[in-house]
Amino acid sequence: MAKSPKYIFVTGGVMSGVGKGVTTSSIAKLMQARGLKVTALKIDPYINVDAGTMNPTEHGEVFVLNDGDECDQDMGNYERFLDIDLSRINYMTTGRVYQEVIRRERNLDYGGKNVEVVPDIPKEVIRRINKAANEAKADVTVIEIGGTIGEYQNIIFLEAARMMKIAKPNDVAIVMVSFLPVPSKIGEMKTKPTQYASRTLNSVGLQADIIIARSEMALDKKRKQKISTFCNISPEAVISAPDVDSIYDVPLNFEKDSLGDILTSILNLKRRPANLTTWKRFATKARNGRTEVNIAIVGKYFNSGDFVLSDVYISVIEALKVAGVWAGVKVKVHYRHSQEFENGVGKKKLTDLARYDGILVPGGFGKTGIDGKLRVIEYARKNKIPFFGICYGLQLATVEFARNVVGLKKATTEEIDPAATELLIGVMPEQKRLLKENQYGGTMRLGAYPAKIKKGTLAYRAYKTEIVSERHRHRYEVNPQYIEILEDKGLVFSGRSPDGRLMEIMELPEKVHPFFVGTQFHPEFSSRPLTPQPLFLAFVKAAITKRNKKRKS
Ligand code: GLN
Repeated sequence: MAKSPKYIFVTGGVMSGVGKGVTTSSIAKLMQARGLKVTALKIDPYINVDAGTMNPTEHGEVFVLNDGDECDQDMGNYERFLDIDLSRINYMTTGRVYQEVIRRERNLDYGGKNVEVVPDIPKEVIRRINKAANEAKADVTVIEIGGTIGEYQNIIFLEAARMMKIAKPNDVAIVMVSFLPVPSKIGEMKTKPTQYASRTLNSVGLQADIIIARSEMALDKKRKQKISTFCNISPEAVISAPDVDSIYDVPLNFEKDSLGDILTSILNLKRRPANLTTWKRFATKARNGRTEVNIAIVGKYFNSGDFVLSDVYISVIEALKVAGVWAGVKVKVHYRHSQEFENGVGKKKLTDLARYDGILVPGGFGKTGIDGKLRVIEYARKNKIPFFGICYGLQLATVEFARNVVGLKKATTEEIDPAATELLIGVMPEQKRLLKENQYGGTMRLGAYPAKIKKGTLAYRAYKTEIVSERHRHRYEVNPQYIEILEDKGLVFSGRSPDGRLMEIMELPEKVHPFFVGTQFHPEFSSRPLTPQPLFLAFVKAAITKRNKKRKS
C-alpha cells in the first residue's frame, strides 16, 4: 500500500443511466493495470439500508457479495472488471450511514456532544471509505457517488468528497461523468447541460479534475475546447466517451485517451505503463465472435412504464455474454416476459420458443408470471431445448417436474400457496420466524456457501471439482420430504450443501435431455470476464450444439 493512499471520486452530471458504473470500473481498471492495488466503493443515496428490500423494477439488479450484502449492480461491474471480491464495507447508502451514526450516538460514542448532519454524517462516510481502503490495502480507492449532481439526496456525500479533498488536495481526484445530448431535430452535440452540471458541482465546493463526456458520438475539438473554457479544466482532461458496442472496450478507449496517465499525474503518482494485455485479448475476442446463439431470458421484471428494462438481469446477461466469448460465439439475449405465455393473459404461443437455442429462467419473487414460467419450463423440458433455471428457476423446474413427470398435480411452492397440500418447495425452517415477525431486510439465506457436487453428473463435468462456492439469495428450498420420490422418477440433485440437507443443483441426465439444469444459488454473481462461470459455459455450449443441429436439419 502506498504511503499516501489515493482517492478518486466519480460523480454524475446531467442525468443518470449513462454508464457511470462502467466508467468507474474502467477508471479503477486503468489504475490496477499500472500495478497499483485498487478497490472500489459505491454510494447509493437512498434511505434503504441495502438494495435487498427494493423492487427490482425500481432499482435494477440486486447484486450479492460473498459476505451476503445485497447491493447495487455496479458492485458487480467493479468485481467483474477488477476480478476482485468486495465486501459490505464497499457499499453504503444514506440509510446505512445514518444507522451507524445513530447506533453510536445511542452508545454514547460521541461523548455527550451534539451530533449533527454536518460534519458527523460526512465523517462517517469518510471513515467507511478509509476502512474499505485499509482493508483492501489499496493504493487507489475509487468511489462512485450515485445519483446526479444537483440532487438533494447525494449532497452529503459530495460534502464528504469536499472534506477529503481539502484535507488531502494531492491525493484526491474528482471525476464528473457527464452527458452531451445530440437532439435529433438540431443534429448538433450540446455542451450546455454539462456546463450547468459543472457549475452545480462548483456550488458544493468541488471542481472536476476530469470530465468524461458521454455521448452518442465522439466529442470534437470545438466542444472539447468549449467544455474546457466553461468548466475550468484543461482540454486534455475532457475525455470523449462515445457509445460503444462492448463495455469491455471502455477501459481500452480511456487508455488510448491517456486517462490513466492524466489521473496518475493529478494524484501525484509515479507514471508507469499500463499492462492491459489479458483484458485486451478478451475484449478483442468479445468483439470478434460472429456465430450468433439465441438465448431467451424468461423473466418478469422487464417493464418500466412503457419501456423495457433489462438491467434487472445484468449479471445474468453478462455471465451469458462472457460464456459466449469463451465458447467463441456471440450470445444474443432475448427478453421475454413470462406472462406472455400465460393462459388468458398471454397471446404468444409456446411454440414461439422453438427458435431459441437456450432458455433461461432467472431468479424472482412472488406469484406474478409463475404460470407462464412453469409452462415455458415444461416446453423446454419436453422439446429438449437447453434450459437453465436460477434460484426461483430451480424451484419452479422442480415443481414442473413433480406435476408433470411424478404426477403430483397439486405440487407448488409455499411462496405461492402456503396452504397447499403438496409443498414441493417450502420455507426454510430458520426463515419461518423472520417472516412471521416481518423481518425482511437482509434476512434471506445470503452470500457464499459451499456445495458438494456429485461425480458423474453434468454439474461435475462443468465444474471439474467436488466443492464449489456460490452466492445465494433465497428463503425457500426444495422440501427434503420429496427428494426421494423426485430422484426415483429421474431428477438428479447433483449439488447439495456439504451436510446434504439443502439441494443446490438439480439436473436431468444427459441421455434424457441435452441440458436441463437448475441452481438454488446465483451462479451469475461469480462469473468474471477472465474466468467464465462453469455452468453458464456448459449452458452456452449446449445452446451451440442445439443451434448447429438445427442448422443441419
Ligand atoms: N423467491 C424464491 C425464494 O425466496 C427465489 C429467490 C430468487 O430467485 N432469488 O426462495
